[in-house]
Amino acid sequence: RTVYVNGEYLPETEAKVSIFDRGFLFADAVYEVTSVLDGKLIDFDGHAVRLQRSLDELEMASPCSKEDLLEVHRKLVELNGIDEGLIYLQVTRGSDGDRDFVFPSEDTPPSLVLFTQNKPGLADSPAAKKGAKVISIEDIRWGRRDIKTVQLLYPSMGKMMAKKAGCDDAWLVEDGYVTEGTSNNAYFVKNGTIVTRPLSNDILHGITRKAVLRMAQEAQMKIEERLFTIEEAQGADEAFTTSASAFVMPVIEIDGVQLGDGTPGPIARRLREIYLEESRNAAV
Ligand code: PMP
Repeated sequence: RTVYVNGEYLPETEAKVSIFDRGFLFADAVYEVTSVLDGKLIDFDGHAVRLQRSLDELEMASPCSKEDLLEVHRKLVELNGIDEGLIYLQVTRGSDGDRDFVFPSEDTPPSLVLFTQNKPGLADSPAAKKGAKVISIEDIRWGRRDIKTVQLLYPSMGKMMAKKAGCDDAWLVEDGYVTEGTSNNAYFVKNGTIVTRPLSNDILHGITRKAVLRMAQEAQMKIEERLFTIEEAQGADEAFTTSASAFVMPVIEIDGVQLGDGTPGPIARRLREIYLEESRNAAV
């Protein structure tokens, strides 16, 4: 694989970041994952805008312009021959060569790293045809989940808990209400109405969430943005999650309770189709 690190395209074995980098020592870093279909970027603009917001919220310097970022994404797709897959991007606050809780001086250059993940069959995924089984776990993450930081230890543990329980993923619950999935936004559908938690500091403002809700609205589907419990979702007709890496993923079981007939629901399937088609057409 050819990767990008601070202005250079290098074989992955030669790319280097300092051991003092604050991304490594303090998780002082933000990231984005953009999907690639037909060799093109899905919603690049949305990811670039959210990246800038994450950087602003943490008073972290921008590593380069949006135009330069697009150029790096495209170049990596080309150099690695990606038809379907993902591009991971991470910006860290860099380092002034020591470990200190206090941020380094403002002229310390941020680190910018990007790499590709080749995933043939990403769109035509067998997992999406089967649907996902989820468990619920307590949401003990920090209070600024709207900033896309690399503090992913708890979500990672959540996925492991799901795996140990024979499931695919975990939904996080705070004060009795579902916040989101470990790496996706969460929805259920009851009597044709799509329900999902409203945007706040409690959840990541998913790029796929925004697109899917717009498409659902355009398709005359009803949407309610409000808090909901696991029990309410268990009594739903169907459920699903959204993320840039899995698009619209049907959910067929929550904490051992099967939804509907235990197969992906019609609204989740339709939204996945619409999302994939419209996103392919708008890809850059
Ligand atoms: N919530 C969390 C916690 C996530 O990690 C992600 C994906 N990174 C999402 C939601 C979905 O966001 P997006 O649609 O932008 O991928």
